Amino acid sequence: MEKSASKCFTCGREAYFYSAYLKQNLCKKHFEKMLIRRVRSALISKGYKQKAFRMTDDGSAAYRMLKFVFKKDDNGTVTLENSVLEDFALAVLEYFLAKKKPAHQIGLKTRFNPLYQVSEEELYAFLDMKGIKYKKRTHGGREGYLLDFMKDVEKRRPGGMLSAVKMGEKIGVI
Ligand SMILES: [Zn+2]
Repeated sequence: MEKSASKCFTCGREAYFYSAYLKQNLCKKHFEKMLIRRVRSALISKGYKQKAFRMTDDGSAAYRMLKFVFKKDDNGTVTLENSVLEDFALAVLEYFLAKKKPAHQIGLKTRFNPLYQVSEEELYAFLDMKGIKYKKRTHGGREGYLLDFMKDVEKRRPGGMLSAVKMGEKIGVI
């Protein structure tokens, strides 16, 4: 995709990011709006009405974004965890390939992963845009191999990882 030639689907300004989720090009402003709305609505759609959350500072990019969106660590009764789309897509894939019990759950009563529909690519693009420092994750071994496979699928079929996660969610795997 030639970024320079692309325009924001919403306002026509220069595009910053192609959203596989919406299948649209977005400028910085609308990329931010879209991403934050998705993170917040993930919580709301699962019935979490709290405004205060506990966050887990593991130094990850995911934590940095949650910190940005939810502003402060608080003594809420729900803990926000830092797993992202790739973690859940892997969990679903491993469930079907190897009958592995998923290593991540989107949410249990007092724990939730608001970034379960946010990819590492989106996460990094967001933090870059905000000038927030972070460390990229590396994936080795079997995990790296499976992620490469999924990214390959993603190239040909944008949104493929998300579809896998939505299916896993629907049948109650994650
Ligand atoms: Zn725009």
